[in-house]
Parts: sequence; structure tokens; C-alpha cells
Amino acid sequence: MRTLEELPFDNTYQQLPQTFYSRLAPTPLSGAFLVSFNPEAAALLDLHPEEGARREFVEYLSGMRAWPGSAPVAMCYSGHQFGHYVPRLGDGRAILLGEVRNTRGEKWDLHLKGSGLTPYSRQGDGRAVLRSSLREYLCGEAMHGLGIPSSRGLCVIGSSEEVYRETIEPGAMLVRLSPSHVRFGSFEYFYYTHQFDQLKLLADHVIAEHYPALAGNDDRYAELLRQTTLRTARLIAQWQAVGFAHGVMNTDNMSILGLTLDYGPFGFLDRYDPGYVCNHSDHQGRYAFDQQPAIGLFNLSCLAQALLPLLPGAPDAAAQTARALLDLYQPALAAHYTDLMRAKLGLLEAHAEDQKLCSDLLEILATNHVDYTRFFRALARFRRDASDNPLLRDQFPDRTAFDVWAERYRRRLAGEHSRDEQRHLRMDSVNPKYILRNYLAETAIRRAQDHGDYAETERLLTLLRRPYDEQPEHEHYAAEPPDWASRIAVSCSS
Ligand code: AMP
Ligand code: MG
Repeated sequence: MRTLEELPFDNTYQQLPQTFYSRLAPTPLSGAFLVSFNPEAAALLDLHPEEGARREFVEYLSGMRAWPGSAPVAMCYSGHQFGHYVPRLGDGRAILLGEVRNTRGEKWDLHLKGSGLTPYSRQGDGRAVLRSSLREYLCGEAMHGLGIPSSRGLCVIGSSEEVYRETIEPGAMLVRLSPSHVRFGSFEYFYYTHQFDQLKLLADHVIAEHYPALAGNDDRYAELLRQTTLRTARLIAQWQAVGFAHGVMNTDNMSILGLTLDYGPFGFLDRYDPGYVCNHSDHQGRYAFDQQPAIGLFNLSCLAQALLPLLPGAPDAAAQTARALLDLYQPALAAHYTDLMRAKLGLLEAHAEDQKLCSDLLEILATNHVDYTRFFRALARFRRDASDNPLLRDQFPDRTAFDVWAERYRRRLAGEHSRDEQRHLRMDSVNPKYILRNYLAETAIRRAQDHGDYAETERLLTLLRRPYDEQPEHEHYAAEPPDWASRIAVSCSS
């Protein structure tokens, strides 16, 4: 375990040419203080957990004190936002402080969000509010706990600064970790500015850092597109299976490594509602829950377009290669989703009828407004020999709809000689009991904002690290959301 001063920075992105970033230090937050520190994320850096308690921790991270070895830059990118190409985005309020290589050979970007104005700030103020910082912090850890690839939260730093959004809110900064913050939009930037040499450098950088076995191969760029396509398909299958809506799937928020990045107005489903739109600014429902698989493909096609100059052969041949790789997406997503849903249903064998069993279930969950997470958790307790399963049945205003489905499920289980007790254990390991429901995050945020009380944030962090475990002392966190939960509005403004 290391001290702050001993962290081995290995800043590879900063060795790329000037066109990839702007060098600048974070703008210190006034009255900065530590709101929450995550020792699990610190361990990824081999950072000793007690280092979080040192004053220098906040000082290095909030820009008050230069950190030896760090090389702060704002990364440059562009991207498609809500379907339209925006030629220049970049880190408008974020800074890559440096890359740290741990003793296991993993490299982690230390990335600040809310760190002040940069050349990419456009009309923005360069700041983030406590509300959105806590949401991103908690959700990164919740996703990790669920086994879904994500950026991680190292800490949240509060401040005495006021930030103007719809109302005045306390300013804050999130420090997050990710193996990379390169986005689909990073490639689009060099493609649309016709800087194809730089495009190649960027692709080679990602390959060298994350797919070293491909380095030097003639087909490495096609392979990069293949890997990104497959990882994105798997990621979105996981989102759909757990009931997560990202909210702003613009190409500048899509990780080249297929992990969940840039949490804004995200939401987990409470009641199962395929058309759920978590972002109140998304009037068209472009990023509705059930649109995510299709948007993933749109985003990948933007990436493929940007990679065309690197694919072998004349333009026609390159386009054909790209199309063939994009064609892998739908089947990969569907296959992974089917596997995940089969596991959620506790089924061991794969039958052709399973897809229909699952989609018919989702349909009655939707029409009966049943809570998605609570239903699957309760389904583990389904008894094959019982004439009814009241815990499940009573979740449906239309009891008959459930009875009809339950009879099919019972027969399917009988067909594979499913044993209740074993199935129960299997299902509990894939159907979370605890998710970061909007109202849970909101409760922690209100306590933090109104009372400077961060205990609820800590409780949620602990709870969501083990979302599949029964935690009897936290039973109430798995309850149905209260009525006021449906009135929480989350928008892009953060
Ligand atoms: P997002 O949708 O939050 O990922 O942000 C999209 C773009 O807007 C990125 O380039 C951000 O850096 C930039 N941005 C968002 N909020 C701010 C802000 N308050 N100040 C400056 N830039 C911002
Ligand atoms: Mg973003």
C-alpha cells in the first residue's frame, strides 16, 4: 500500500500529441472538504486507506496543490448528441489528472469531474453540483457491485461554492477511476477533422494499453471495432437485464472499453415500464429504456464510420468490413440477454420457448405495474408444488394473468427437474435485492445538501457493494418506493 506521494503515475495519454488534449490544472474549489472516500476504489490504486484522511488528499485532488507525477489535461473529443453531430465537445468540466499503474499491472485513469473551466467548457461553468456528484459516485459503485462494468468512484469533495442550475446548489467534485476515458467521440473528433494520422495514433494507443496482443497486427483496427462491438453488446444486455436506463447515450458518453461511463440522469426501473425515460430533458424518448439496444447500434455505427480510414482496402471494402462487424452486435446482445434472463428465471437448460416465456412475463409485469427487482427476487421463492405462490401472485392486480404464466413456468421447471432449494440459491445470486433506486439516492442527497449529513451516502455504499446478499438490517431499502419517488425529476442539468 502506498502514500499519495508514492503513487506511480504512468501518463500514457499525455504522451500523445497536443491535439488530443489541453494541458491545464484544475481550478481549486473554495472551502473544499472530503464528503466521502471509498477505500475499495483506493485499493485499485494501491493507495493506503488512511491516505484519504490526510489534508493533502483533498488538496492534490481539488487543485490546491500540484501533485508530483500527475499531468493534468482536459481531453478533446466530439460526438453525436441526441442524433446530431457536435464537432467539438471535450472535457468541459473534467480533467484527467494522470494514470496510475498498480502492482497488478492495471492502469487507472484518475479523473476529476467538476474541476473548473477548460477550453471545452462552451457555455458551461466548469462545475458539478453535489447532487450529481453523489449520484455518479453511488451508481458507479452500485454497478460494480452488480457485476456490470463501470467507472468507479474514489471520492466526492464538497465545497462552499454555489453553483447555478435550476436553483442554487452546492458545488462539488467527483474523483472517478476508469481504465480509460477514451470515448467513441474521441475517434469521431479526428475523423471529422480529417486528422487521420491522429486517428491512427488514438487507435494504436487504445490497442497498446488494452489489447496489447493485437499490437502490430494488420487487422488490429478491425479487431478493435469487433471487440468494442461485442463489449458494448454485452454491456447493454446487462443494463436491460438489471433494468438500468443510462439516460444520455450520446457517443461522447460511450466508452471504447464498453463500460458504463458518465452517469447523468440515469435511473433503475422501479415498476417494469419498457418505455421508461429517466431524463426529463429527453422529450422524444430517444433514450427510453427499451431503445437502448438500438441506440447502442447507432452509436457503434458512428464509431465504425470514424474508423473507416483505418480499415483495410478501398473505401468499399472498408465499409463492407465495418458492416460485417456491426452485424455481430444484435445477435451478441440477444444471446447474452437471453442467457441473463434465463438465469434470472432460474433455468438451467436452454429451450427455444424461453424467449417467449420471458417476453410474456415482461408483458404482464408491464401491464400490472409490477416492481421489476422485487418480482425477480421473490420469484426465487416460487414453489413448484404449491397451488399458488401468494408472495408473487399478490404483486399482480390481475391474478389470473400471473396464474396463467405461473403454470407455464411450473411446467418448464418440471421439465428440467428443477429443485426449489438449489434454484432459490442460484436465483438470489443473479437477481439483486438492493438497487440504487432514484428515491434512495435522493434521500442521501437531501441529507447531504440540507444537513451536511453524509451517513446515508456511506450506508448506501456499504449496502450496494453486496446487492445480492440478504442484509436483514437493511430490509427496508428493498421495499417498494414511496409515492413521492415517482415525482423526482432528473434532467441533463448537473
Ligand atoms: P454530459 O452530457 O454531462 O456528458 O456533457 C456533455 C458535454 O458538456 C461534455 O463536453 C461536458 O464536458 C460538457 N459539460 C456539461 N456540463 C458542463 C458544465 N457545467 N460546464 C462545462 N461543460 C459542461
Ligand atoms: Mg459526458
